[in-house]
Amino acid sequence: MAYHYVIDIDRCKGCGLCVSVCPKKVLELSDKVNTKGYFPAYQARPKDCVFCSTCCIMCPDVAITITEIAEDKAA
Ligand code: SF4
Ligand code: SF4
Repeated sequence: MAYHYVIDIDRCKGCGLCVSVCPKKVLELSDKVNTKGYFPAYQARPKDCVFCSTCCIMCPDVAITITEIAEDKAA
């Protein structure tokens, strides 16, 4: 199963909670500000992500979304 991982940069307030809870150390805070003036989180090491969704659950601003990508296109 494949997953689509998105951080809504402009919802993020750069609190760093997701960075600290990720068991795989995938996330870091950007050095570029978003439209609210915060440094948003991003996946610095996306290949290490195991899609455990811990970061989504922890984010107080619901800025992280993980969705399953249907792979049943084979005919
Ligand atoms: S889904 Fe899990 S492994 Fe991936 S970034 Fe979030 S906490 Fe880290
Ligand atoms: S927990 Fe949410 S608001 Fe905080 S840095 Fe991560 S994505 Fe941004």
